[in-house]
Amino acid sequence: MSDVLVAGAGPVGLAAALTLARGGASVTVLEAGPGLAAESRASTFHPPTLEMLAGLGVLDRLMDRGLVARTFQYRDRATGPIAVLDLGVLAGDTPYPFRVQCEQSKLTPILMEELVRHGGRVLFGRRVTDVLAHAGGVVVTAGGGRHTARWLIGADGAHSAVRRSLGIAFEGLTYPERFLVASVEEDVAALLPGLEPINYVFDPGEWLVVLRTPDHWRVLLPTPGGSSDAEELGRLPGRLRAVADPGRDWALAHASLYRVHQRVAARFRHGRVLLAGDAAHVNNPLGGLGMNSGIHDAVLMARALLGDPAGVDGVDGVAARRREVAIGHVRTISHGNWERMRSADPAAHHAELRALAADPGKARAYLLRACLIDSLRETGGGAATESATARGAGTGTATGAATRAGTEPPTGVGPGARAGTS
Ligand SMILES: Cc1cc2nc3c(=O)[nH]c(=O)nc-3n(C[C@H](O)[C@H](O)[C@H](O)COP(=O)(O)OP(=O)(O)OC[C@H]3O[C@@H](n4cnc5c(N)ncnc54)[C@H](O)[C@@H]3O)c2cc1C
Repeated sequence: MSDVLVAGAGPVGLAAALTLARGGASVTVLEAGPGLAAESRASTFHPPTLEMLAGLGVLDRLMDRGLVARTFQYRDRATGPIAVLDLGVLAGDTPYPFRVQCEQSKLTPILMEELVRHGGRVLFGRRVTDVLAHAGGVVVTAGGGRHTARWLIGADGAHSAVRRSLGIAFEGLTYPERFLVASVEEDVAALLPGLEPINYVFDPGEWLVVLRTPDHWRVLLPTPGGSSDAEELGRLPGRLRAVADPGRDWALAHASLYRVHQRVAARFRHGRVLLAGDAAHVNNPLGGLGMNSGIHDAVLMARALLGDPAGVDGVDGVAARRREVAIGHVRTISHGNWERMRSADPAAHHAELRALAADPGKARAYLLRACLIDSLRETGGGAATESATARGAGTGTATGAATRAGTEPPTGVGPGARAGTS
């Protein structure tokens, strides 16, 4: 029997498992697939996530494979650059005042390698189909076998079998359009002068996002909900040439269509089961918050299970506060980004963004929220919050975790607990 089972070997499940293994807990990850997912999805890591990954001993390897993006840009599709925001204004708030651009599929092997080095196990071909939570632990049916543990973290993605098995509602909305993500071999910076590594391009007719990743430029385009994939992929060359026309079709590496939802689970804890990442909340990808906030869930929940008094205040507390973050930060910010991208009257918003870029104090306040540092400070966020507070740059709310610590006895899934200290 493991101390903790984790359903799903995505970035969230593996970050939770590694935090637990480093804390001395025995942890087994049950993954449905035959190996780690290779799908090209998240590509942006925000500063507080970088802090957490540094704490897990994997940041150097991620940065070796990724690109540092110190700036990002807002553009108008017709008129070009509006404003450039420089994450350098966060230098007093984080040791990593930049984003790292790297596909999530490059992080997961690094996390798994480190997890195994710390004694954790990943079992592939184990699709979780049923969960029984009882007072002393959990019984999980996966891949035809039964697994028992004291706790289960459900990090099995948006269609979470863990969440469904426990009958936890997942309410919200489905966006009217799908998102088409094209990775291209073109040098898009040569086609669109003045591009930064990350670019949000406003347009009332057809907004887009243009991002640099280590291997490609990626273009994200909204796409009608009702048409077939084949029809949309057939239209793609023409749509890309309408963004910038090199006199021929763009060289395309690959393209995928995603239906996008905004949903939050009715609760993130059910007895000895916690939900984290996409299993607990999904949002649109504008602003790059899904994986980032999911990794924050993972690390903070795992720390709570380890009974770390410096981390968060108990399992109930962290589950409640991560749900507050999913609603008050991740959902609000990403939905606001979607509304602004398609604004029919963007002039006032453009003026706001120009004023923001020109005022480092305002830019800092905006970026603290956009990159989720605020979400951690306001709810007690462990490493990311502590390091900022230590440098005197905190908002004053960061000490909440410490003052609330101890309101629930440590759950202690680590070695101390097995020795009878919990
Ligand atoms: C186009 C696009 C771009 C995005 N860009 C960003 C970005 O830049 N930044 C960002 O933060 N987020 C971004 N996101 C969101 C991000 O991809 C997700 O939030 C992230 O993958 C969530 O990680 P996860 O580990 O919770 O779930 P997943 O990555 O979905 O992993 C879940 C794992 O569980 C496994 N699994 C599923 N069912 C079971 C089962 N029953 N039993 C066992 N295992 C199971 C799956 O095989 C998978 O390995 C983007 C999403 C999309 C679609």
